[in-house]
Amino acid sequence: MTQTVSLTDAADLSRAPVDITTVLDHLVREADAAAATSIGFPAAVDLDQTEVMARLGNRLWNNIGDPADPGGGAHTRALERAVIAWLADILAMPTDDRWGYVTTGGTEGNLSALHAARRRYPTARIYYSTAAHYSIPKSLQILGARGVVVSARPDGEMDYAHLAAQLRKRRRRPAIVVATAGTTLTEAVDDTTRIRAVLDDYGVDGHLHVDAALSGIPLALDGRLRFDDAGGVGSIAVSGHKFLGVPTPCGVVLIRDRVRGHGSHVAYTDTVDTTITGSRCGLAAALLWHAIATHGREGHRWRAIEARTLAAYAVDQLTAVGWPAWRHPHAFTVVLPTPPEPVRKKWLLATDGDTSHIICMPGVTRGQIDAFIADLVASHHRGRSRSPGSHPNRRPVPLDTDFSSSGTVHRSTEVITMATRLRRPPRVPVARPRHQRRPDAHVLAARPSPQPPPADHTVIAWARTTLTVHRAGDNGLCRGCEDLGQFAWAPCPTARDADDTLTDHLPGQ
Ligand SMILES: *Cc1c(COP(=O)(O)O)cnc(C)c1O
Repeated sequence: MTQTVSLTDAADLSRAPVDITTVLDHLVREADAAAATSIGFPAAVDLDQTEVMARLGNRLWNNIGDPADPGGGAHTRALERAVIAWLADILAMPTDDRWGYVTTGGTEGNLSALHAARRRYPTARIYYSTAAHYSIPKSLQILGARGVVVSARPDGEMDYAHLAAQLRKRRRRPAIVVATAGTTLTEAVDDTTRIRAVLDDYGVDGHLHVDAALSGIPLALDGRLRFDDAGGVGSIAVSGHKFLGVPTPCGVVLIRDRVRGHGSHVAYTDTVDTTITGSRCGLAAALLWHAIATHGREGHRWRAIEARTLAAYAVDQLTAVGWPAWRHPHAFTVVLPTPPEPVRKKWLLATDGDTSHIICMPGVTRGQIDAFIADLVASHHRGRSRSPGSHPNRRPVPLDTDFSSSGTVHRSTEVITMATRLRRPPRVPVARPRHQRRPDAHVLAARPSPQPPPADHTVIAWARTTLTVHRAGDNGLCRGCEDLGQFAWAPCPTARDADDTLTDHLPGQ
């Protein structure tokens, strides 16, 4: 096949003969090409599953029925039970009150848990936050259950005061509350202890489910997510293809044994029908088992620590080039103002309006982060040349503005340090055209100060760095520096050089 034939045309089964090798080559080539810039979605890519795929991947392994079912031929239920036990153990789930199975993913885990909770509390309302995953309202719709939406804070965590207010209005009814451990956009973790306390305050009976698809395993390994009796959690869903990087969509749901429904016996398969789907993927269970067996608790803890370290590095580097990024301390997810479209597209960023994120899952490298940031910086240069020197919303920021309330204190000394650091171009592993080779050019925003530095600033150089505070808008350009809610010291990307930055932004010049 030539490059001009699309995959859709090549794969068209109504055209004979179909060139199978070409189609498969095309798929692999596209996936390989995308892998280098895939930092927007949470799939770990560091584990090797070749052995399981080679030895088990070519036949049907069907774990139909309950994981405890003994019968049948080619299935991996023994491995599935081992996976359930391992996960329940790291979550400190009581050994005498545990049950679970390997699902098709986070969605099925949520559906299965909410199904069980609802069977127990048929009149309950189901509370979930605006930052909850879309599988939650979908599950409610499938179950025909009534939902109550609770606000989320800007950082993605549930607003517990609003939960309390919503519960108070319906205190006569039982409540099923969905907490999220790792929200999709910011990886916020709802505090199950606080949710329990709110339920207890109003004496509301009910069930607490944790949608921990994204962060369940890393948090459990740190002891930060627990399923013991004290926590009052009734069920947890985790994903298998995110942190564990299993090469097929899958997940695990854990439900307290006394909460879950005990399904009916199916005569012709001789299995007990306790799961959402009938036939279930035994290969997924084997892959999960293999991922755990090859690394163990400590290996996976180490993977989580490495990933968080990379995420912290990404925040530092982004902040240093003037792109105000942040992350929750436990998170792999780095939240940032949405980059210009070409950067967003190339790096497959998940985007919600003016906010995007990258996720430093195990397997993402420092080189990828550096290359992403270099692209971000280069895109500013291009943006600048399209609209040289002028920006409709540009407004000066008074130099004596108190920025310390943002939680980020920038004194002159730090700013100078930052500028010094930035004069070294970031490591750029990819070849770039000559005109893009000076990613440091627009950050030279220091110049001799007309006034001496304030007395409380340590003078480390006879220069006072004056930088603009800006927040990038959708087009990646400065929005006019008026929004102090999220900012960093940074040059305005529309400035042609340091002097532009200074003269355009210094008050009274
Ligand atoms: C990924 C995810 C899901 C859904 O998982 P699927 O495997 O896509 O069904 C649900 N909730 C959260 C928080 C997630 O991150």
